[in-house]
Amino acid sequence: MNYPVDSIREDFPILKRMVNNKPLVYFDNGATSQTPIPVIEAMNRVYYEFNSNIHRGVHTLSNLGTEAFEGVRRKVAAFINARHSHEVIFTKGTTESINLVAYSYGEACILEGDEVIISGMEHHSNIVPWHLLQSRKGITLKVIPVLEDGSLDMEAYKQLLSPRTKLVAVTHISNVLGTINPVKEITAEAHKHGVPVLIDGAQAIHHEMVDVQELDCDFYVFSSHKMYGPTGTGVLYGKEKWLDKMPPWQGGGEMIKTVTLETSTFNELPFKFEAGTPDYVGVIGLGAAIDYMEGIGREVIRRYEGDLYAYAFDRLSAVEDIRIYGTAPVRGSLVSFLLGNIHPFDTGMLLDKMGIAVRTGHHCAQPLMDRFAIPGTVRASFALYNTREEVDILVAALAKVRQLFG
Ligand code: PMP
Repeated sequence: MNYPVDSIREDFPILKRMVNNKPLVYFDNGATSQTPIPVIEAMNRVYYEFNSNIHRGVHTLSNLGTEAFEGVRRKVAAFINARHSHEVIFTKGTTESINLVAYSYGEACILEGDEVIISGMEHHSNIVPWHLLQSRKGITLKVIPVLEDGSLDMEAYKQLLSPRTKLVAVTHISNVLGTINPVKEITAEAHKHGVPVLIDGAQAIHHEMVDVQELDCDFYVFSSHKMYGPTGTGVLYGKEKWLDKMPPWQGGGEMIKTVTLETSTFNELPFKFEAGTPDYVGVIGLGAAIDYMEGIGREVIRRYEGDLYAYAFDRLSAVEDIRIYGTAPVRGSLVSFLLGNIHPFDTGMLLDKMGIAVRTGHHCAQPLMDRFAIPGTVRASFALYNTREEVDILVAALAKVRQLFG
């Protein structure tokens, strides 16, 4: 495949560093991806050239900042093919986006005794906000079961939908199993019952071609730091018809139209949901991350990563004593596994000694660990700069780990 991985790696200075006297092999992209120079430079440029609070000033710097910030809103809208840029709300990240929906949509559209459907493979950030709503409002949480291969039980899902269902909230790609869920089908099924759907795109936005109009989802959420952008910023996409119905969830500057000492009226979309000074530097960095991916070509990245994933899955499958979790027919981007009866932390620590960064533990998905009756897994997750050679290093290192544990 003609993919310029060497020159791409040059864009990520951190990939040159040594860890424990070994060249870094970074396979913890599912937690946070690395940041390319153009993104770092875009953020530096704000501080060097036009740092100033946005939306407020009449002066030149503030206007430059506002233009850059609102330009990214339009860029994000185009990136996910949203109908309107005011359907893009900037948040702190996936977690805050889901909490916003749970709070605000929960306030406006969910009553005691109503039901929310999630799946058994959700990250805690798509479970706990619904527990909080449960204790505020007395809702019932229903859960789509996970099958042995790590796919969702779609027949069970159809049975869960009821006249009391008020929302379906599921992950696009599992951060533990790599399962790519049939989110379009899940959405279509929910819509037959008039139920809106929230998709947690934290693990999907940088791997898949996400088109929110094509998916027809009602909410789509993701974080910048997993898609080559900075930490501290993320997106809630919501269909206008829902966002209009939803009350603000935080009060403060920018989200108001008028304030007297007695009462306030609220700004229009998207500002109604963006109280206070946003992380405008982070958002501008997110814009640069989108430009970076578009510069390589999203379809080009997708094909490269698909090929790398297939290679990694094959090579890891052949490691002696390995058990891979997540073998659904449609999957990608990461491989989760256990090696013999070696605890995942021990494997992770030894790999770190060899310069290899992987994630170990429950991956903020404890119910899924319970489902498979395991304490955790070792997870290698891939990004656009990883290589087959790095996969080979991991495979060789795992053989050493086995040796060390006899
Ligand atoms: N959902 C999924 C599927 C994730 O993988 C993550 C991050 N591990 C999150 C939600 C939470 O993202 P953040 O911490 O950026 O809010």
